[in-house]
Amino acid sequence: MTIRAPKGTDDIVAPTSRIWRRLLRVWDELTERYGYDVVFTPLFEATELFARGSGEDTEIVQKQMYTFIDKGGRSLTLRPEGTPSVVRAHQHADFHKVAYWGPMFRYERPQAGRRRQFYQLGVEYLGTGSPISDAEVIDLGHRYLQDVGVPDVNVALNSIGDPECRPTYQRALRAYLRAREDQLCEDSRARIDTNPMRVLDCKVCGPLLTDAPTPVEYLCEACTLHYEQVKAELAGLGVPFVEEPHLVRGLDYYTRTAFEYVATRLDAAQNAVGGGGRYDGLSEAIGGPPLEGVGLALGLDRIVLAMGPQKAAPALDVFVVVTTRALWPSARGLVADLRRGGYRVDYEPEDRSVKAQFKAASRRGAGKVLVVGDEWKAGKVAARDMVTGEQWEIPIEEVSEWLA
Ligand code: AMP
Repeated sequence: MTIRAPKGTDDIVAPTSRIWRRLLRVWDELTERYGYDVVFTPLFEATELFARGSGEDTEIVQKQMYTFIDKGGRSLTLRPEGTPSVVRAHQHADFHKVAYWGPMFRYERPQAGRRRQFYQLGVEYLGTGSPISDAEVIDLGHRYLQDVGVPDVNVALNSIGDPECRPTYQRALRAYLRAREDQLCEDSRARIDTNPMRVLDCKVCGPLLTDAPTPVEYLCEACTLHYEQVKAELAGLGVPFVEEPHLVRGLDYYTRTAFEYVATRLDAAQNAVGGGGRYDGLSEAIGGPPLEGVGLALGLDRIVLAMGPQKAAPALDVFVVVTTRALWPSARGLVADLRRGGYRVDYEPEDRSVKAQFKAASRRGAGKVLVVGDEWKAGKVAARDMVTGEQWEIPIEEVSEWLA
């Protein structure tokens, strides 16, 4: 009996994995161009990091964490998100712009685009409260989604205030929610006192509360100015956005800016392909020094869904066929030269007929084939275009030119 991948997890294999590889490559290059270093943090952490960093009262911490006791008796948790670890890792460092990617773990009810192991691409811009950094992060995510070809993405934007103005807003929201308590789900009722903003984020109750007071109506002067500057900066960058006054994000440590990228072609239940915000209180919440920051996380699984059916690009530029094993050393040299030249090259390791090798070439999606045969002695190879079926004899030194 074969053992299946656990519920809510996937084996991402070719050709789909080829799309993932391209997405990671674009991410790596884009974040590097925006000046972000890269960071790798543990996949498991002290449970306390998320309890304090994500918030005791969040859906993630209360219901979705993979928590276990290790052999040393410590309570550890598979990371449900990247931000607390990344902030912890940079509390005393000079690097203030960092990118990451990797798997996250949440005990969810699995469906398309909602997995128990899923993958996030994220950046954190640390050590500044400047609205320019908020706008840069939002622009970066938007740029990425454009570059990889996710159609119809809306940027939803809001400001949720700071510890100065949020209490006044929360009082107003509490009063509003109490008046409607009997319409709320059990979780939401329990949160009216502890964390009323979370109720707006509830998948069941949130959509019903269209006339709830909004944080923006209660922003203090500093938060209002910050929000105005973020919007002006986004306009300057040419990033289109829609103000979404009830957008609050599910995590406790957010201050001021909150945003989400919505792929309007996906089902509403999982059409958020990413989101983020400012979290000036997070570092202190996890026991560190004050450290301002803003960041985003994009969901790779959902990006792939939102891209729609894709024809995965061919895995190879060229396949090398050899007519007789005696010529293998020459073919091996050609393969090595082409690989060093930056081409994606492969061959058949078993002693197979030329016909079988051509079959392997098309199975692997190679657009071109080079045949090392009798002409090798005369300094030539046969070159076949697998799409048109045309074939030529070309001098070995012209192979690169032909491939290009
Ligand atoms: P969050 O960390 O909850 O703000 O999520 C950021 C992004 O990660 C979301 O917009 C989704 O694209 C993605 N995401 C979150 N949870 C899941 C999940 N269980 N399965 C797949 N993608 C997810």
